[in-house]
Amino acid sequence: MSDKFSGVEGFPRASLLSGPTPIERLERLSTQLGIDLSIKRDDLTGLGFGGNKVRQLEFYFGAALEKGADTVLITGAVQSNYARTAATAAAKLGLGAVIQMENRVHGMDEAYNTSGNVLLSRMLGAEFMHYPEGEDEAGADLALRRRAEELSSEGRTPYVIPLGLNNPPLGALGYMKAAEEILQQDDGFDCMVVASGSGLTHFGLLAGLRALGCKTPVHGICVRRNSAAQAQRLATVGAHLDALLDCDPITDASDILTWDGALEPGYGHIGPPARAAIMMMARQEGLFLDPVYTGKSFAGVPGLVKEGTIKPGERVLFIHTGGQPALFAYQSELEM
Ligand SMILES: *Cc1c(COP(=O)(O)O)cnc(C)c1O
Repeated sequence: MSDKFSGVEGFPRASLLSGPTPIERLERLSTQLGIDLSIKRDDLTGLGFGGNKVRQLEFYFGAALEKGADTVLITGAVQSNYARTAATAAAKLGLGAVIQMENRVHGMDEAYNTSGNVLLSRMLGAEFMHYPEGEDEAGADLALRRRAEELSSEGRTPYVIPLGLNNPPLGALGYMKAAEEILQQDDGFDCMVVASGSGLTHFGLLAGLRALGCKTPVHGICVRRNSAAQAQRLATVGAHLDALLDCDPITDASDILTWDGALEPGYGHIGPPARAAIMMMARQEGLFLDPVYTGKSFAGVPGLVKEGTIKPGERVLFIHTGGQPALFAYQSELEM
């Protein structure tokens, strides 16, 4: 194993995963799309409805427990899977959770503000706060830090899980470990397709593969920013990850592949390609995608086939990153 990869083992990690998630072949969609398509079921990571954040949070909670924290603070969209998963992990570990809801998605109805992940986080006993902006990561982090200072002055020991780009990308380590898990299950894929939001999942997977000597392309499907902006963000994540692991660059610029053909009408809204992808996965395979991330990221599979980037017959691994509880908050957009 290369040194770049073994560095990951030096970080504290809370045990939140239930075990390796399955890789399954999608028989009917393989036939329909003319490729050999499999799905990595990271919607089945085990904790609180699963999803990709469980792998990321193993490292944030590892750091929080090492620091003796009794409360974790996290920020995200109102229907944040990350916040719900953090509140679940906090409950399981006996910590408090503070969730800051950012006003990121406009024009939504009552269900958006009360159902899905919001309902679950309330059931978990999380404390809620609100942030009026949706595109101000540094400001959102600062507001969380202020709340953390208040908690400190009350004698509590808070740990902030940061959102902004200029923080050590601990969450990416979870997806470096996922890359290792995938290669142990099946190292014969021609490419992988995954959602690219904060970029920690996409970049962590890519970095894990490269650190283990695997050259398989990883297509990051944009869910929040266009291709150019997302590629720039990923380069920054990469620089921070190299610094965190104290190693030479793990990837080079040609490794960063982004596709934004399903991004419109923007973060947290369902466009025609995502809607088609959600219905196709449900009706062809009996599997549920989510409205914010995997609807868009799975739309990238037929999108990249149509463009010729994915060639007929290629072995493709789609990473299901979870998020299904938000379906119930998006009933009105899904039934349109
Ligand atoms: C957060 C999330 C993503 C995006 O992961 P990043 O690491 O932020 O890029 C993808 N899918 C689901 C379901 C998510 O909740």
